[in-house]
Amino acid sequence: MTARLIDGKAIAAELRGKIAADVARLKAAYDLTPGIAVVLVGANPASEVYVRSKSKAVAEAGMRPFDHKLPDTVSEADLLALIGTLNADPAVSGILVQLPVPEQIDTHKVIAAIDPGKDVDGFHPLNVGRLASGLPALVPCTPLGCILLAKTVHASLAGMDAVVIGRSNIVGKPVAQLLLAENATVTIAHSKTRDLPGVCRRADLLVAAIGRPEFVKRDWIKPGAIVIDVGINRIAGADGKSRIVGDVASDAREVAGAITPVPGGVGPMTIACLLLNTLRAACTQHGLAAPAL
Ligand code: NAD
Repeated sequence: MTARLIDGKAIAAELRGKIAADVARLKAAYDLTPGIAVVLVGANPASEVYVRSKSKAVAEAGMRPFDHKLPDTVSEADLLALIGTLNADPAVSGILVQLPVPEQIDTHKVIAAIDPGKDVDGFHPLNVGRLASGLPALVPCTPLGCILLAKTVHASLAGMDAVVIGRSNIVGKPVAQLLLAENATVTIAHSKTRDLPGVCRRADLLVAAIGRPEFVKRDWIKPGAIVIDVGINRIAGADGKSRIVGDVASDAREVAGAITPVPGGVGPMTIACLLLNTLRAACTQHGLAAPAL
């Protein structure tokens, strides 16, 4: 069997197109333009690349970007003051502080300072709790992207045995919560899990969010399974140039039924879901029904 490749790039482009159309409708009907504030602290090259592509996507969707670049020496108090200003600004629908932040700043305090209604990263404890309680919430972008990709293969994930490898707050745990909300039977595996290959072999749907290149082997995959590979790992190629690989071995596609490529799978969905969260946040703030996309 050769797996169907789940084309995250194309699916994200389609979603972004729908979001742009909805943004245009909001503008025409209510003179409302969703705005997103992206706060970057310091000069982390990976974060800078990511923030640049976010800003481009925000502009393409017709939203208003409010970019704030702070020096890596900024104090926690100054960053919290900026967040307070953004919370109070009605033009700002969503706030994202690019992580990691320098060590003089307490990440938890920063996340907790963001208005939960503008928390488009879905990391605020209130949104985490609402997701866990089955209440409407802003949910983390990469996990949301994973679910949307899996649902392009099977519209319903109900009853599936789903295994998530990884228990981070950013990916593993929220993916597991979202899968539970989709009525899957969910197992969270991690670095202390016994017989990880055996656990994975039970999975109709396997989400790998580990951060180790090609860690999940071909013979861990149940034939026909949906595999969502979240990993982004830079390795040295045979030609001396570096390349990006996922957490799942490339020959797993000989066994899986459908699999996300890396790059071009989950990655593009993260930014598309950030735009979706911003659109939803803007609608909620103005008492409008969020578009069903
Ligand atoms: P993390 O380091 O916070 O968490 C990794 C998880 O993997 C941990 O919970 C750990 O228990 C588990 N793990 C580590 N070693 C293991 C082992 N030997 N066996 C089983 N489990 C093991 O990482 P993260 O932030 O969750 O990110 C995971 C990967 O996803 C990284 O490659 C990251 O770059 C990528 N990522 C991609 C996107 C995207 O947009 N595509 C977004 C976020 C993260």
